[in-house]
Amino acid sequence: MSTNAELFERACRSIPGGVNSPVRAFRSVGGTPRFVARAQGPYFWDAEDKRYIDYIGSWGPAILGHAHPAVVKAVQEAAVHGLSYGAPTEAEIEIAELLIERLPSMEQVRLVSSGTEATMSAIRLARGATGRNKIIKFEGCYHGHADSLLVKAGSGLLTFGNPTSAGVPAEFVSHTIVLDYNDSQAVREAFQTHGKEIACVIVEPMAGNMNLVKPAPGFLETLRELCTAYDSVLIFDEVMTGFRVGPQGVQGITGVTPDLTTLAKVIGGGMPIGAFGGRADIMNHIAPLGGVYQAGTLSGNPVAVAAGIKTLQLLGEPGFYDQLGAQTRKLTEGLTQQAKRHGIPFSADSEGGMFGIYFAQAVPKSLNDVSASDIERFKKFFHGMLDQGVYFAPSAYEAGFVSAMHDDSVIDATISAADAVFKSLV
Ligand code: PMP
Repeated sequence: MSTNAELFERACRSIPGGVNSPVRAFRSVGGTPRFVARAQGPYFWDAEDKRYIDYIGSWGPAILGHAHPAVVKAVQEAAVHGLSYGAPTEAEIEIAELLIERLPSMEQVRLVSSGTEATMSAIRLARGATGRNKIIKFEGCYHGHADSLLVKAGSGLLTFGNPTSAGVPAEFVSHTIVLDYNDSQAVREAFQTHGKEIACVIVEPMAGNMNLVKPAPGFLETLRELCTAYDSVLIFDEVMTGFRVGPQGVQGITGVTPDLTTLAKVIGGGMPIGAFGGRADIMNHIAPLGGVYQAGTLSGNPVAVAAGIKTLQLLGEPGFYDQLGAQTRKLTEGLTQQAKRHGIPFSADSEGGMFGIYFAQAVPKSLNDVSASDIERFKKFFHGMLDQGVYFAPSAYEAGFVSAMHDDSVIDATISAADAVFKSLV
């Protein structure tokens, strides 16, 4: 049996940084990544057969818990009939109908294979449908790694952004306007200056990529109002929040209706899938109907679609989200109480099965607030919990996820582990 450290050393020889997605490498918290051997329900086991309570759940998809028997069965049954056809199937219609039925803003939907593809395609579609180039995004929101989205705010208000990745020419992000999340006034000013050139606004309607940061009252409503007034496309990136925070995502909670929505993660139940959809008059611009090109060899993959359909069916059971939300609150309230008992500045927030924990007196409202939290203390907490067999996201800038399998005993075990760890942090 290899140790995690041995595997990491070996991985680094054949894979850049030893991982296939950067945050897995533990760079921001230090230490050795855990190599997963298997997972079941709320747990995974690493290469050394140590068990962890998992609060990442594959960064969101594992909402039913790992290896849910009904989802695994659906995958197995689909796999025997072939892994990919490159021709349409009835199951693709079924998942499209399920998504349209659940999300009132969605009239038509197209499947892709990841969240990145979903947002990249939605933005191309918005540009193609409006004949405009500029897009607005918000600092701290992550929408996958398409070139025009890898950008941070420029120095002054209303300046265009700078690439945050090598390999992205400045020209490629010269049409991307980056504003502060929850700053309605800045969006108003951007529209006053560039309104008729703005193809779309893309937003995480509840941000989960700068830890959990909720929309301020009126923020999403302002985006809706301005996009309507200027004929721009409002894109809700619900890759993380879709079917995670509630049965209709953030749009169901806030009542603000986007023109397009991007989805991934939960809708594939752990298999590679993404989707973008919305108003039919916009979706009609996609090839083969319209001039906006978008395609994929594995799009609508039958095995991924089978996992997605089964997952969505199970999420539709009465009371699912009430129960998930209650368990998540039990976790955040328990952690907050323990921190308070030990006199550690700490706060927490949640929506449905998604949560944020912050080493800060108050729940953050912006990326700046998150950055101002005690990140050194978070790192110690992270490693303390890891030693105790509890796996939180290895970064203070990530949200956490609870599954339907995180029952009372799992939450209680987490809270008593936190008691010991908070004590050691005093
Ligand atoms: N949008 C959001 C809101 C996300 O959280 C993510 C991934 N964390 C993406 C897009 C990109 O999705 P993927 O990793 O599947 O490409």
